[in-house]
Amino acid sequence: MTGKLSFAALRAHHRCTEQMIADPELTGDLLLIGMWLSRATHLTLPAPAEEEGGTSRWTLDDIARDLFPLQTNPGMYFAGEWTSPQTTGPDVWRVVELLKNDIRRYDPAADRPGPAWARVPCSGPMVRRPVCGQPGQTWRYFTIPETGRKQVKGACRKHHDWFMAEWKANVAAVNAATVPVPPANVGGRLARHLPDIDWPALWVGLDPAWVAPPEVETSARPRLRLVVGSELPARPVAASRSPRPRFALIDGEQS
Ligand SMILES: [Zn+2]
Repeated sequence: MTGKLSFAALRAHHRCTEQMIADPELTGDLLLIGMWLSRATHLTLPAPAEEEGGTSRWTLDDIARDLFPLQTNPGMYFAGEWTSPQTTGPDVWRVVELLKNDIRRYDPAADRPGPAWARVPCSGPMVRRPVCGQPGQTWRYFTIPETGRKQVKGACRKHHDWFMAEWKANVAAVNAATVPVPPANVGGRLARHLPDIDWPALWVGLDPAWVAPPEVETSARPRLRLVVGSELPARPVAASRSPRPRFALIDGEQS
């Protein structure tokens, strides 16, 4: 079903793609998928399959066919013979991986300070300074029992025994407590631009174990109200009002 394109639909598509392009977290192939989805949801291009109950559906294959279409791999010389060129299907796995990576979730790596490749400094105790600070030989994610968030801790060789004792204590503390699910900190980049799509349904399809993570409570927006007070002060009156200039609509001859 492709209805007539309305200006409202075109405008919505235009606004949506503009906002996606302006989003610094939305780049590359994921942005490309976002553009495709905006066109699909706002302009119903390509036409979706209609489901019972009036919902529309597209499949990931629809996206893959358009964005990452059929490829022909050239023939290869192998063991004294040329193989024939091979045609592969659209790369639906590329779409799957991109969308999986954008599932709204908590990722401990995003909670980790500094770049992922940086060595975690040893947090072993010292006598004259708070922590050791030597480049760590080992590191692990410790769970903060109160929040459920992960905290990376490292240890140098000298502090290895201390580290393992800390680790065991952390595991025991986690087992003894009811640890809350930490709020989401990654993913959902497409979802924030395309709210009409049932994202939770897709995310469960991509990861059957997915459960909606809690979101950080955004502080309630202040309610600004502009009201006319019941008692307005008297309007100041100018002592001597100069006569206002008069404008008249002149139609043809001046009267
Ligand atoms: Zn150390």
